[in-house]
Amino acid sequence: MPDPSAGAEPATVAGSAAAAEPNTVAEPVEVTQPESNAGDANPDAPYDTVVIGAGPGGLSVALNLVRARRRTLVLDSNRPRNAATLHSHGYLTRDGISPLELRKLGQAEIEGYPDGEFQLALAQTITATDGGYTVEARGVRGAPNRTVRTRTVIISTGVVEVMPALPSLRAFYGTSLHSCIECDGYESRDQPLALIGETADLADRAILLSQWSADVIVFTNGVGVVTPDDEALLASRGIPVDRRPIADVDGDRTGLTGIRLQDGTVVPRTAGFLRPVYEPSLAFAADLDLDTNDEGFVTTDAHGRTSRNGIYAAGDSTQPGPQQLIIAAGAGARVAATVNRDLAFAG
Ligand SMILES: Cc1cc2nc3c(=O)[nH]c(=O)nc-3n(C[C@H](O)[C@H](O)[C@H](O)COP(=O)(O)OP(=O)(O)OC[C@H]3O[C@@H](n4cnc5c(N)ncnc54)[C@H](O)[C@@H]3O)c2cc1C
Repeated sequence: MPDPSAGAEPATVAGSAAAAEPNTVAEPVEVTQPESNAGDANPDAPYDTVVIGAGPGGLSVALNLVRARRRTLVLDSNRPRNAATLHSHGYLTRDGISPLELRKLGQAEIEGYPDGEFQLALAQTITATDGGYTVEARGVRGAPNRTVRTRTVIISTGVVEVMPALPSLRAFYGTSLHSCIECDGYESRDQPLALIGETADLADRAILLSQWSADVIVFTNGVGVVTPDDEALLASRGIPVDRRPIADVDGDRTGLTGIRLQDGTVVPRTAGFLRPVYEPSLAFAADLDLDTNDEGFVTTDAHGRTSRNGIYAAGDSTQPGPQQLIIAAGAGARVAATVNRDLAFAG
């Protein structure tokens, strides 16, 4: 059986995408898979695409592929990272929408097409088989397990956030505390803000945050790195750095009230931003041995192709890492165009 990885014998590609549409998608690559599913009523036939992860990245891939009449299965483990918040911001025409509503709308759009199928399931393995791939997934919330064959796979499983270990942090995450400054800075404007993190980019984040409030304090939790030069720069902008270890975040039903330090001091703050460390959710793809960057994000070409033929990635799973809803959705649309083109040329 041919393997669809780089070592496989590729199908011959007639013509070139660049000649057809020079400004959109580059030369198609070969997706080695003998069977085509367009209009195929056989439920055992391979899917054209299995999309793993139904955030805006995966949903956007799926919407564009079902519209291209590609038989598409979307698998999602139902653990969206942004479920912590009630409102998503900055998505054109949907500013302030609940993130779960946005997903529901996306899912309904896909299921409105004959080639679209959605299932709650956690993908566990992807293996190269029969010139395509086999995806094994464990059903969640009562949905059945699935083992499916597919010509292509889209990885759009986002990231996991590793936060500073503060006991009450999750109670305020998504309401008073956020991670994306561009997404939630406006709602926190002109408030006394905390920036809490343990990474080396705190000074950059603080200067960015000062666009939304003149009262920002950086908390390093005794760990984060702020160099003397950065501290001087921050001081010149009126941003103090507190290097004491944090005991917890304090608050009540109104939201965050302060940052409690281990020495007993409580610094009053009504909102803040965290600097998580992001880890891509890719354990299920381990067998594929995909190329990743230093931080573990899947590396792709400019069109979403990974280092394995037939495997694509979109959204936060890819470099440069966590961004925004509309950026993930845009990347999804671009990857869908690439997949459709690669499949079309593979025949
Ligand atoms: C609290 C919070 C608030 C945010 N607010 C905003 C905002 O206001 N505006 C904005 O633009 N952006 C916001 N973001 C960022 C935005 O949510 C992400 O950039 C965006 O969701 C990324 O989309 P994605 O499709 O790449 O991944 P995600 O939306 O993270 O979706 C990934 C999906 O993959 C699924 N999954 C993971 N592993 C598997 C597996 N093995 N099998 C099957 N499914 C799997 C997960 O359940 C999840 O549903 C926020 C993020 C957070 C955490």
